[in-house]
Amino acid sequence: MSSDLNATVTMRYEINHGLLVLQVTPDEEVPPFQAGQYTTLGLLGAAPRWHAADPEPTPPPADKLIRRAYSITSSSLQGKYLEFFVALVRSGALTPRLFALNQGDRIHVGRRIVGMFTLDDVPPGKDIVFVATGTGLAPYLSMLRSRYAFDAGHRTVVVHGSRVAYDLGYRTELEGMAARYRNFHYLPIIDHPERDPGWTGEVGYVNRLFEDGTVARRLEHPLSPERSVVFLCGNPLMIEGMLDLLARLGFRKHTRQAPGEIFVEEYWK
Ligand SMILES: Cc1cc2nc3c(=O)[nH]c(=O)nc-3n(C[C@H](O)[C@H](O)[C@H](O)COP(=O)(O)OP(=O)(O)OC[C@H]3O[C@@H](n4cnc5c(N)ncnc54)[C@H](O)[C@@H]3O)c2cc1C
Repeated sequence: MSSDLNATVTMRYEINHGLLVLQVTPDEEVPPFQAGQYTTLGLLGAAPRWHAADPEPTPPPADKLIRRAYSITSSSLQGKYLEFFVALVRSGALTPRLFALNQGDRIHVGRRIVGMFTLDDVPPGKDIVFVATGTGLAPYLSMLRSRYAFDAGHRTVVVHGSRVAYDLGYRTELEGMAARYRNFHYLPIIDHPERDPGWTGEVGYVNRLFEDGTVARRLEHPLSPERSVVFLCGNPLMIEGMLDLLARLGFRKHTRQAPGEIFVEEYWK
């Protein structure tokens, strides 16, 4: 129902075909949240799909609200709007509709903001390695934008993997942070250099930067569970590979019941 649409798209831009930054302003105040958490976005079945998405074999009822979870990229310190970083799933139910949105269109945003993928359980003084592929960068952006303590006695490394350089969303912002804060390092890496002849940076999958010591050099010590925690968000194959690699170094997955040094957010399995 149109009463489900409780927010307005106040900004949209496409980083590249298939990667969208969406800024949404709820009719009511943004509820307080912690950087790293997520909420839901939703549109009605009647909403148009992006022109180049796959056609739907069975379209949903026009009045059905299609909802999915999205990590918030905006700072938790401002209560005006929420920003999201969304990848197109061409055959998907919601993302082709999100891509067809224009500034001023109405959208549903969840009234609750939830999730455990936050900095809450990170012991003070530990180095933090944020590892993402694609839109898995989203929760880290919120953490970094929310008055994150870049120089509080620890080092921070962001490892971001994508297919090509023009898929590396928020690159300029992260390069700016790296230039400004000596304890902050940004390591972008692409796995399809043949499609990006101008790229002179790192090539391969994110795990390569752990295996060849690049991350350890930025930390200025070998990666170990005694000194560091690692956050993982993005492609399930990347998460699986990184969990194996980190387990070999003695890292354990964190839960509230059994504290460990690996924090994981899974977007899909
Ligand atoms: C806690 C949480 C936070 C999330 N945050 C984000 C976010 O910040 N940005 C974001 O883009 N997505 C995020 N997602 C994924 C999002 O909820 C949807 O699953 C995704 O946008 C696809 O929705 P859809 O309706 O278009 O596809 P659906 O019709 O639901 O089809 C889903 C299928 O698409 C595939 N899929 C889902 N996501 C992707 C993807 N990113 N790339 C490739 N294939 C995918 C999977 O095979 C999945 O089974 C998050 C999911 C969770 C659980």
